[in-house]
Amino acid sequence: MGKLLICDSVAASAIEAMRAAGVDVDVRDDVTPEALADIIGDYAGVVVRSRTKVRAPLIDKASKLRVIMRGGVGLDNIDVVYAQSKGIDVRNTALASSNAVAELALGMMFALARRIAEADASMKAGRWDKKLFKGAEVAGKTLGIIGYGRIGRLLGEKARALGMKVLAYDPYIQHEDIVSLDTLLQSADYVSLHLPHTAETHHLLSNKQLAMMKRGACVVQASRGGTVDEAALYEALVSRHLAGAALDVFAEEPPQNDLLKKLVALPQVVATPHIGAATVEAQDRIGDELVELAKAYFIEP
Ligand code: NAD
Repeated sequence: MGKLLICDSVAASAIEAMRAAGVDVDVRDDVTPEALADIIGDYAGVVVRSRTKVRAPLIDKASKLRVIMRGGVGLDNIDVVYAQSKGIDVRNTALASSNAVAELALGMMFALARRIAEADASMKAGRWDKKLFKGAEVAGKTLGIIGYGRIGRLLGEKARALGMKVLAYDPYIQHEDIVSLDTLLQSADYVSLHLPHTAETHHLLSNKQLAMMKRGACVVQASRGGTVDEAALYEALVSRHLAGAALDVFAEEPPQNDLLKKLVALPQVVATPHIGAATVEAQDRIGDELVELAKAYFIEP
């Protein structure tokens, strides 16, 4: 069916497996946008992670392209509708990172509940602030999950096993845990987001919604930057209406603007650099799913 171009970093074992299966693979995982525009016309498939952007002008040059494979979940770096309008399939590795993200969200919740990052920072500064770090237990608390898809439901199962009450909001899912967004916000001790960033979900949590949350509640954000209004979150944290926030994703990555720098610097914020899917196991599964996709498009009829 033609050649497959790997534009971003993919596990070497996955590339070997594709070649062993007979797929004609070229690896250019440091390709610049300009160089990619020059060579894209030669390929029937491309594999991207999040570094390479596949926008309309590039798609216009991709005369042989039949499939864009995204190693990962979010498709924000690809003009999906435009690609599909040109007859190009867009596929992701939807399941590979779900457990990794659900576990990070749990870890973030514990970090907030027991102020682990703050306590660690004080130890590293040579202090022994034992009396300062009285935390709270997550057992018996309510977790509100916004977006009850693969990651959200997995997180819900794990949280229940910890003795948490689970509520969810998702207008596109029918499930006994689903409540209205208002009920979720008014009831939850922790609100965790697991939904895509779209025009509809942009700033889903802003001033009004954060004000509806219980005083002392926390936000966990490991979905996509833009779903939480970071200026509103900063105000809610500084005013102490919210007790803490854990952030793995940001409207700007890496965060450069003053607001995000101030937000990340707050002691009641735990921040990580978009590492939700960054586990050995998830990366292996992404590689495995890419191999299956490559075989389906390039080997099997
Ligand atoms: P999914 O498609 O299985 O679930 C998303 C859910 O969000 C769906 O059930 C959908 O109905 C729901 N949703 C859509 N619009 C909504 C709205 N307005 N209000 C409430 N819910 C809404 O996706 P998933 O695999 O569970 O991934 C969830 C999110 O996690 C995605 O945004 C993905 O990009 C992100 N993610 C982050 C990382 C990371 O590194 N932090 C890694 C993987 C995925």
